Amino acid sequence: MLDAVVVGAGPNGLTAAVELARRGFSVAVFEAQGTVGGGARTEELTLPGFRHDPCSAAHPLAINSPAFRALPLERYGLQWLHAGLPMAHPFPDGSAAVLSRSVGETAASFGARDAGAYRRLVERFLPRWDTLARDFMSLPLTALPRDPVTLARFGLVGLPPSTWLMRRFRDDKAKTLFAGLVAHVMAPLGGFATGAIGLVFALAAHARGWPVARGGSQAISDALAAYLRDLGGTVHTDYEVKRLDDLPPARAYVFDTSPTALARIAGLGNHYAGYRYGPGVFKIDYALDGPVPWTAQEPRTAGTVQIGADSAEIGAALNAASREGRAPDAPFLITTQPSVADPTRAPEGKHVFWAYGHVPNGWTGDLTDAIERQLERFAPGFRDRVLARATAGPPELAVRNANYVGGDIASGAVSGLQLLLRPKLSLFPYATPHPAVFICSSATPPGPGVHGMSGHNAAKAVWRRLRQT
Ligand SMILES: Cc1cc2nc3c(=O)[nH]c(=O)nc-3n(C[C@H](O)[C@H](O)[C@H](O)COP(=O)(O)OP(=O)(O)OC[C@H]3O[C@@H](n4cnc5c(N)ncnc54)[C@H](O)[C@@H]3O)c2cc1C
Repeated sequence: MLDAVVVGAGPNGLTAAVELARRGFSVAVFEAQGTVGGGARTEELTLPGFRHDPCSAAHPLAINSPAFRALPLERYGLQWLHAGLPMAHPFPDGSAAVLSRSVGETAASFGARDAGAYRRLVERFLPRWDTLARDFMSLPLTALPRDPVTLARFGLVGLPPSTWLMRRFRDDKAKTLFAGLVAHVMAPLGGFATGAIGLVFALAAHARGWPVARGGSQAISDALAAYLRDLGGTVHTDYEVKRLDDLPPARAYVFDTSPTALARIAGLGNHYAGYRYGPGVFKIDYALDGPVPWTAQEPRTAGTVQIGADSAEIGAALNAASREGRAPDAPFLITTQPSVADPTRAPEGKHVFWAYGHVPNGWTGDLTDAIERQLERFAPGFRDRVLARATAGPPELAVRNANYVGGDIASGAVSGLQLLLRPKLSLFPYATPHPAVFICSSATPPGPGVHGMSGHNAAKAVWRRLRQT
């Protein structure tokens, strides 16, 4: 009998498997798709030689993850590459705000009236960032906080809605950049604890940047899987788990799946019936004949570029998709251009680029025209650079990965109490009513993103149980 079986080889499933194998437990992973990685994969989606990340591309959370930083992933081929700027946010007048490694450069890009307020906001947390990241990402209570005072201070600033935090700024540049950061996890700007989301992304940029993985996000997953194999673990792909009986006997079963799928597979009835899914996304991967012709200078050197004319436009786009059940006319876009930092992604002189906007859960329309109209506002001539495009709306995203229910790439709405307490209101979110069954996906704290911390935290709960029995 195995000690643990993990269902799903996303970043969290692989991290949970590695953490258990490192502690001497026998582990096997079963993955539905033909390759490991879940939301951290790389494929030639358009033309030969263009290596696209169908899901995650920018990795502020991975490079800052306490779990990943404790693993020897560089030894297994993972290499972080940094663009000149982690992120840029262009405006219709041809200027741009930036999120730079330097606090000073970032503050200066917001204008003189907001530079001081930004410095005061981030500089009090930055010296304690590593401890804060670990404490914040280990909530609720999987480990005692190492620095409870800083965590409490962070809570005072971060737990109110991001709209409160944005009141510190007088001009719209800083507000708009912050609104965009909150929208990365598809949270409504006025929602509980959304200030913390914006702050985490900003602090992560100043601490270690927003890099891409050399060769593509697949390199993160391949490094985790290779390390797991060296530790004696096994990985089985093309193996969709439909019932617990599909799996070999084990002392613990750890699910890197949606709560809905877990309830169905493990026979947990209505246990997660109250779990809510959020808006979906419509994503386009592009093969380009050259770099994106941004009007502003700053986005040309940035790994990630946010597109939204002002904070009101971003708020309206989020509301349309999450509350009004319609696709936004001017979608807020998150775009990445990995080949700016990593020339291995595309033939010489060419580029890979992706953009996505938010749409209602399960939406079946085509957002291509609206996305490209937005891009043309900030990069006139963009369409002329397109060699090929691969589009994926909610139905296609859900086929690529069963965890993206209705195209919700956060695997569950990041709003209300579900932002922090997911998948149920519980101090033990990784446990289920079945004593041998656990959940480790991004439907558990600390939520979406490639950081492996849900897997790390869940593995802790599993090894404690295994040692008791
Ligand atoms: C378009 C897009 C862009 C994104 N951009 C970023 C970004 O730039 N940076 C970032 O940090 N994050 C980003 N994310 C989010 C990030 O990819 C996810 O939050 C992260 O991958 C979640 O990891 P996970 O291990 O919980 O689940 P997943 O990565 O979703 O992995 C779950 C795995 O379980 C498998 N599985 C599910 N059901 C079964 C079953 N029944 N049997 C067997 N296997 C099963 C799936 O096939 C999948 O491989 C993005 C996501 C998307 C879709």
